[in-house]
Amino acid sequence: MEEKNPLIVGNWKMNGLLSEGQSWINFLSNHLPEGFLTSDLVVCPPNTLLFLFNDLIHKKTSHQKFIKLGAQNCHDQEYGAFTGEISPLMLKDIGCSYVILGHSERRYYFAETNTLICSKVRTALKAGLKVILCIGETKKEKDEGKTLSVLQNQLEQSIPSDTNQIKNLVIAYEPVWAIGTGKIPTLDDIQMVHDYIESLIAIRIGKHHQNRILYGGSVQPNNAKQIFDIKNVGGLLVGGASLNAKIFLQIIEACYDK
Ligand code: PEP
Repeated sequence: MEEKNPLIVGNWKMNGLLSEGQSWINFLSNHLPEGFLTSDLVVCPPNTLLFLFNDLIHKKTSHQKFIKLGAQNCHDQEYGAFTGEISPLMLKDIGCSYVILGHSERRYYFAETNTLICSKVRTALKAGLKVILCIGETKKEKDEGKTLSVLQNQLEQSIPSDTNQIKNLVIAYEPVWAIGTGKIPTLDDIQMVHDYIESLIAIRIGKHHQNRILYGGSVQPNNAKQIFDIKNVGGLLVGGASLNAKIFLQIIEACYDK
């Protein structure tokens, strides 16, 4: 099997107080051996913790090598009268390298459409952020045999055609029914879907694209390696299990367990 360097992303969602953020970073930075990872571990805490995380990560130069900072959402404008919102420029300014966009919880609870997501992706890429664009089918769509067409639509409609930063786009396949449920697709299904996404990206971006395709949805230490070993799975997007630094570390180690 080809050697892959995983991109592992922790999405904390609306969880985490200052004290928890501090212990999480301390635990991980003390337990990841120097040089273990180069630049492929990303933590996306709530916005209230971004400043603290950036500060903690940069206090020791060795931390910068392996923990990158990401946000969970941003606005599609650079600045303006949008009370309560945060722009990609602000995220970049505070030390974020990544932003998650199009997460199914944003699509469902905040009625985000592909058109809005596309606009956010464009502005975030322009600001110099790497974008983790989430796509995925609901249980109903899966049961109706619509998985591939749903993914195709989401991809076609959420990737801007007029960006020159497409290399900074990461796709995350997250079946909505697998998020936070403890259920995952069969390994064959993950492989089939990732091959399909890979083929769509190759058509859209070019055969030699370097864009990674992550899997997300109920990733745990006991399934991480099997999923990561699937061809065209370039890493993992981890929700609930990323909150516990010990469990998150086990997921990271599982991907390196050759
Ligand atoms: C997520 O919210 O992106 C996610 C993958 O959640 P979980 O790992 O908890 O299923």
